[in-house]
Amino acid sequence: VPVVELRQVGLTYPGPPPVAALRPCELAVERGDFVTVVGPSGSGKSTFLNIVGLLDAPTEGTYLLDGHDTGALRDADRTALRGRRIGFVFQSFHLLPHRSALENVTLSMVYNGVPRAQRLPRAREALTRVGLAHRMDSPPTRLSGGERQRVAIARALAPQPALLLCDEPTGNLDTANAAAVLGLLDELHADGMTILMITHDPEVAARGARTIAIRDGVLSEQRVREGSAA
Ligand code: ADP
Ligand code: ADP
Repeated sequence: VPVVELRQVGLTYPGPPPVAALRPCELAVERGDFVTVVGPSGSGKSTFLNIVGLLDAPTEGTYLLDGHDTGALRDADRTALRGRRIGFVFQSFHLLPHRSALENVTLSMVYNGVPRAQRLPRAREALTRVGLAHRMDSPPTRLSGGERQRVAIARALAPQPALLLCDEPTGNLDTANAAAVLGLLDELHADGMTILMITHDPEVAARGARTIAIRDGVLSEQRVREGSAA
């Protein structure tokens, strides 16, 4: 079963005037795949991200997440499915500035349906995984931008989501920190994580095993690397 399967999924904002932000598209993201979606400003990336991230429902088509038909869900079930199956990584890190890295990761699991007893061990494991075992007690105010984004990635990973959904994850980072974060995503991919990353930057997009282009709301396959799951 693909992690993400879009069948003729599209979204038209009602307006007036109506805006066809995402034209009906087909997409399957397989387990362990690393797919990047690249497009210029206004091309429909946020619309696409919001649909895949279960933040917005499409106005057309069927979206299956890990085999679950998301169209049939009520709001509360959609939110619960999002919390359990999707880890979000954004451009801005949205960390609690005066809580430790460990608390940032632990506290977020309250909203993701992770049993209380598992939160601390999973947070420690996730922070270790992103190379921050020695920074667990530091608040974001004492971490570099790259370290903050790694805390945010640990927060996304800790609930053990089926999909890591990244929106311009290097957008606020300098070159060295951006390279480190992309290197970490490569490692997570090598470990079998399923990653979908949205970016306006073709160089960043080239880091994926497979790249989808989006232009004027139209999705098209651009590149598949040899040996990719797709
Ligand atoms: P991107 O993230 O690539 O910049 P968006 O998905 O934000 O693109 O936007 C795609 C198109 O949909 C654009 O033409 C944008 O103006 C339009 N759009 C985005 N949000 C809305 C909205 N809430 N209502 C109407 N049009 C919108
Ligand atoms: P952009 O990528 O457009 O610069 P952000 O990455 O800061 O903006 O956030 C995109 C959207 O996701 C915003 O609406 C923000 O409120 C929401 N958001 C950001 N971080 C989180 C998070 N950790 N959990 C849930 N929603 C978030």
